[in-house]
Formats: sequence, C-alpha cells, structure tokens
Amino acid sequence: MSRDTALIKEHPLPKCFSPELLMISKGDGVWLEDASGRRYLDFTGGIAVNALGYGREDLAQIVYQQMKKLVHISNLFITEPVLELATKMIASGDFQTVQFLNSGSEANETALKYARLYALRKKGEGHHKLLCFTGSFHGRTMGALSVTPNPKYQTPFLPLVPGVEVAEYNDTAGLEKTLDASFAGVIVEVIQGEGGLAGMSREFASELNRLCRKHDLILIADEVQTGLSRTGSFYASTEVGLEPDIITLAKPLAAGLPLSAVLIPEKINTLIHVGDHGTTFGGGPVTTAVASKVWDILSNPQFIAQIRDKGAYLAERLEVLAEKYSFLGGLRGRGLLLGIEVLPERLPQREENADAMPALLNAFREEGLLILRSGQNVLRIAPPLIIGTEEIDTGITIMARVFDGVESGSLKLGT
Ligand code: PMP
Repeated sequence: MSRDTALIKEHPLPKCFSPELLMISKGDGVWLEDASGRRYLDFTGGIAVNALGYGREDLAQIVYQQMKKLVHISNLFITEPVLELATKMIASGDFQTVQFLNSGSEANETALKYARLYALRKKGEGHHKLLCFTGSFHGRTMGALSVTPNPKYQTPFLPLVPGVEVAEYNDTAGLEKTLDASFAGVIVEVIQGEGGLAGMSREFASELNRLCRKHDLILIADEVQTGLSRTGSFYASTEVGLEPDIITLAKPLAAGLPLSAVLIPEKINTLIHVGDHGTTFGGGPVTTAVASKVWDILSNPQFIAQIRDKGAYLAERLEVLAEKYSFLGGLRGRGLLLGIEVLPERLPQREENADAMPALLNAFREEGLLILRSGQNVLRIAPPLIIGTEEIDTGITIMARVFDGVESGSLKLGT
C-alpha cells in the first residue's frame, strides 16, 4: 500500500466525520502505523484515552482470558471483575459506590440524573436546575449536550433539555448571584479538555465548594478527560481544592475499551431505588477486568510522579518554542494534558478569517506527528502516559520543523 492510499478520501461513514481520514492499522508504545506502513508519533493518545500505549500483551491477555470465561451477563447479575474494580475504586472512602456506564456522555447523563434525583427526593419539587459553564464540553447525548454550551454542537439539535443555565467559567464573583436553592447541581471541568484547556482557579473551586454546600447542590466534577492521573494527580480536582460530590470518569479507564464510571456519595446512594437507572453494556466483565489492571497502574504514586516529571519536561520544551515563534501564545494545561495557543493574527501569509488549524495539523501529520486541537486555537498534546523524554524530544523537533515552515512561508495555512 502506498503512502497516499492510507489516506481514505471516500468512506461510508456519515458526514460528521472528516471527508479525509487516515487509516491506522496498529500501534506499539507511543507509535502508530498507518495502512501503508508509515509510522507516526502519537501526541493524541486517541484523544486522551490510550494512557498505557499500544500493543500491550498484558491487557490483551486479560481480554482473551475473560472473553473465554464470560463476555456479558447484564446488570441483573454481578461478576468478579466488577466486584473487584468497584471495591478498588471506592477504597479511598470518599465515595460509597460506583456505577459503570459506557461513555463519558453517559457517565455525565447519569451524574445529572442523580443530581436531580437527590434534589427531588431530599427537598421536593422546584430544585431541578443545572448549572454549567462557558467553554465546557460534557458530551453529545441530549442531556450532556444541554450542558455543553457551544452553538456548533447544540444548534442543530434544539430544543435541549430544559432547566439548564450557563455561567462564566472562573467568574468567582458572579457565582453567588447565579446559584441558589432552585438548582439541583453544577457540572464543571477542572481543565476544559475541549475548551482550549482553560484551567479552573483555586478561588473559583473554593467558591463552588462553598455555594454548593450552602444550597445543598450536587457538585459534579467531569473528570472524563482529566481524571486517572493525566494531569499529574490522580484526580485533577485535588489540584485546585475542588470537593465534588460526584466524579465522572471515562477515557483511560479501560485502556481504550468503552467503560465509564460515576463515583457516588452515600447521601445520594441512600436515595436511589432499584431500577432508577441502568444500562445494558455498562460494566461488563471484560471492560472491568481490564480496568482493574489499568487502575492499579494509573494509581501508583511512582507512575503519577513520572507523569508530573514528563509533563514538566514537555512544558519546558514547549516554552522554548513559544519564545522562538511569534505566532505562538501561552501554555495551557498540566501534566500530560498540555496545550499551546496559536495566535492566528500573527500567522504569516494567512488568509483573512481562514481557519489555520487544520492545515497545521495536516502538516504535523505529514512530518509523522499526530496532534490534537482544543477549542479554536490551541494545539493539544495528550500522549500515552508511558511516553519517554526521547519521544517528547522527537515530537518537539517535528513541531519546530513545521513552525519553521510556517515562519518561512513555505507552509501555507488556511487555504
Ligand atoms: N466530558 C469531557 C470532559 C470530555 O472530554 C468528553 C469527550 N471528549 C466527554 C465528556 C464525552 O465523552 P464521550 O465522547 O465518551 O461521550
């Protein structure tokens, strides 16, 4: 297969996918190989999912062994892997129980439903409103979409779930005026993974804690992207002092298999009745068996310390790029969820109002580096957490080569 044939220009998928898709056939560590055999360094991690990298024999063995025993049995029963994983996940004592779902959106749907269930059963009617914040992304299903205030995602699907209000992210002073006892809960990201990697301030976290306690509202931390050590702490909430009642988790939880989780406190669990909520596939024995192993690795303090070190190293290297190229702005994010802003108005030879980011991402790909976008103008780096410093260097070298092309004008953007 030639290099070009790995770029599929006509595909049978719907038009919400890019018209041109690179066909990836396999991976090894932090490297991916396309259908023509060309290798790419992966700074995307399958959008912050593939924390442990590619080609893992240990995880493949767990899947194989568990599939031979039992793949699915429904939530009318419990299995050993579910029992083992759930026990580990609540061992810290902050949460009484954990519910397994299939995606980040579904975990957030569940969290929002439980916020309303808590409000209704504890306080009665009239406390059902939900607060979300500008720049946030909580998913694509109707409920999760309703708290994702981005017109691009919402407009085609109006009307949305009623009772949602939007407040300015990090507007600490404004919160008190917005939040009152008519709300059931608040959903928030500590670092806005899809919203340009904006990070929550400590003051904002502390005011959220205070007001949610004051009005008895359920504070939901969406840690679908940040959770499980990606930002250099097991939960990113702890980095800013956020004290959520519920945490939602997904992306890295089962090493790329679809599994999400909602960590639930006793005060909510005691109000949930049999049959209130459920899902067919969530928390099957295969995904949870894998997640048990993933949990052990990602919760290891030494592993987390390495993420912090490697994140600091990557941030340092990005700072050097930011100083060298005038069209680069500030750094965003933490740990191995890092971003660098591209300043469109400073890009040479840019077409008026054109979006330069796709051309930039294509240029990285042409040079053998896969990288993500976050928000309008932020390049997002979320590699497998097992990445080494040499691989970070390789990625930075490629980035510099592409930026040189931008600076010299040999790389045309936004055409
Ligand atoms: N919340 C956050 C913070 C996310 O980053 C995402 C996915 N990018 C979601 C929710 C939705 O997850 P999923 O696509 O698995 O439904």
